[in-house]
Amino acid sequence: MIKEQVPNIHTGIFSSYVDSDVVVFGIPYDGTASYRPGARFGPQKIRQEIDGIETYSPYINKDLCDCKICDMGDMPLFFGNTQTMLDNINSEIQHILKDDKKTVVLGGEHLISLPIIEPYIKKYPNLHVIHFDAHADLRNEFLGERLSHATVMRRIFEKLNGTLWQFGIRSGTREEFAFADENTRINKFDLNGIKEAVCTIGSAPVYVTLDIDVLDPSIMPGTGTPEAGGVTFNELIAGILPLSELNIVGADIVELSPHYDPSGVSTSVACKLLRELLLIIS
Ligand code: MN
Ligand code: MN
Repeated sequence: MIKEQVPNIHTGIFSSYVDSDVVVFGIPYDGTASYRPGARFGPQKIRQEIDGIETYSPYINKDLCDCKICDMGDMPLFFGNTQTMLDNINSEIQHILKDDKKTVVLGGEHLISLPIIEPYIKKYPNLHVIHFDAHADLRNEFLGERLSHATVMRRIFEKLNGTLWQFGIRSGTREEFAFADENTRINKFDLNGIKEAVCTIGSAPVYVTLDIDVLDPSIMPGTGTPEAGGVTFNELIAGILPLSELNIVGADIVELSPHYDPSGVSTSVACKLLRELLLIIS
């Protein structure tokens, strides 16, 4: 079990674990990064920078100060054995779900969403997953591995009874797009299908996984596999706000890799997205 940390972001607003409704923690893992590693540095960078934005969101007229959020710091990881790492994350999430809390996890690379979502599906068999990403992440194998940031949504799809809704996808193999056409609700290039998704999902439980490379590299250079042609920040906010009508039970923000972000723009964007997600889920 990770230890509760002295609150180190927005000092004063964070609750204790016992009092919290939402538990935030980092998983600084980037062990399967194929192009540019460094997402392991994402959670700490977000903690360093998030004080730079207000706790109040004029988009949804809510304030983090009014929410019961606990920051548990980063999970200790044992690099070298992917399966052990995934098992540790899985049991951590089970523990928190048993306490009837929601989780918002800071990545780390996208593979971490698999062991997070598995226990969610056990708890909520009709779970839907909303996936924002430049990449389909639907490969069956990548470089001979079934467990990778490039296969993560395929593995999640295999466990899911509800629907996998994908938005902003503009990169993948021919096979991945064919698989998506058959099996997922894929929205290529943009986020236009969000409102339809919200109507269809209704009151079912939803997990949101946000790979920040869905944004255009012009404002999100700090990521492992930047992909031109992404959405703008305002388009992403407009896509996220309707999610407040849903029963969101968990979320993650993955793939921030701050060393490719010399101006700091990527981290400040990620911090603002984290604020909106925390407010929507609270
Ligand atoms: Mn991804
Ligand atoms: Mn991606």
